[in-house]
Amino acid sequence: MSTTTTTAPSPSPRKPMPSALTFNLDAKCSTTKARASTLHLPHGAVKLPIFMPVATQASLKGLTYDQLKDTGCMLCLNNTYHLGLKPGQAVLDEVGGAHKLQGWDRNILTDSGGFQMVSLLKLARVTEEGVRFLSPHDGTPMLLTPEHSISLQNSIGSDIMMQLDDVIATTCPDIERMQEAMERSVRWLDRCIAAHKYPEKQNLFCIIQGGLDLDLRRKCCAEMVARDTPGIAIGGLSGGEAKEEFCKVVDTCTGLLPERKPRYVMGVGYPEDLVVAVALGADMFDCVWPTRTARFGNAITSAGNLNLRNSSYATDFGPVEVGCTCTCCLPTDQGGMGITRAYIHHLTAKETVGAHLLSIHNVHHLLSLMGSARQAILEDRYPEFLRQFFSNLYKGDKLKYPKWAVEALRGVGVDLLA
Ligand SMILES: [Zn+2]
Repeated sequence: MSTTTTTAPSPSPRKPMPSALTFNLDAKCSTTKARASTLHLPHGAVKLPIFMPVATQASLKGLTYDQLKDTGCMLCLNNTYHLGLKPGQAVLDEVGGAHKLQGWDRNILTDSGGFQMVSLLKLARVTEEGVRFLSPHDGTPMLLTPEHSISLQNSIGSDIMMQLDDVIATTCPDIERMQEAMERSVRWLDRCIAAHKYPEKQNLFCIIQGGLDLDLRRKCCAEMVARDTPGIAIGGLSGGEAKEEFCKVVDTCTGLLPERKPRYVMGVGYPEDLVVAVALGADMFDCVWPTRTARFGNAITSAGNLNLRNSSYATDFGPVEVGCTCTCCLPTDQGGMGITRAYIHHLTAKETVGAHLLSIHNVHHLLSLMGSARQAILEDRYPEFLRQFFSNLYKGDKLKYPKWAVEALRGVGVDLLA
């Protein structure tokens, strides 16, 4: 493992980076910036826009891979940090990567491991070399460099791998630190590209940083785009910033990114955030929220989130969501499990299986939401889709529509209040 420090980004233009994907732009919304596309990855074609569930330890909390396949998922996330600790790189190399380890023959995206460290370990410290931290197992000092992150992701064999970036909370008021993190992320991308052993088999995505400062974001876009990675992520968001700021950053970045590359906004999973970010030109999203909130008894539905722990559901014998085609909600005579709200209510108090069933429904709901958005874009009726979505979510009460969503969509030609 090398820990070479590069202090300046290499000059561009540079020779094109090999790519293990092809990106077909299938349709563009004639009003908003929304796109429908197909991403051909080593383990199959993925229809965009897409929500990607997070399988932290090579397992989606509570779901088997068959159940995950039943939700229609073609691409899920694994955490490099967790896989690097357990089973560890030697085991991954021996078994031939995470697809084989998990028995998952569809696509995997891995994060760099950096965010996990900075967010999980209080003692993590970022230097030009990498992220220094103490092992959560035995307290020994460790260092995650861009080279080591890429080496781990090469062993995992993920179809999409993420660069190690210097990620700090968007709410950080220190603009100098924000600029340093952005510039360091560019230098680290160069080190990631140099360390990447299999660019013809695995796709490395860069990550645009720069906090909420649009000038920093613009500069970062220019540097990152010049490096010509197969796909591009917008990072550092969903850290507690105001939704107005989130929308401005996404809108600014997508305006500067090449049209024929996938755009991934990291850490986004609330339904209204997804449909608005799609309107702003983003294609891919991930979040632990649908499975995490399932553990608290929350069902994501088109009419908002329902807490099935509430006693009012004790005698509600309808499905979690009427019309949902997930294996949890689908009636038994249609091949589903015919699970009722009352049953989940009964289980959530004491049995983890309640959370498993809700995870199936919640992940399916977000995948299906993105599938419906895609269909609407293909048929060039995304503005109508947005109006219907917000009407369903707020039961027709326009006074309740969030101001940030109304403003962001007005910016791309859709007036929700008209
Ligand atoms: Zn369902």
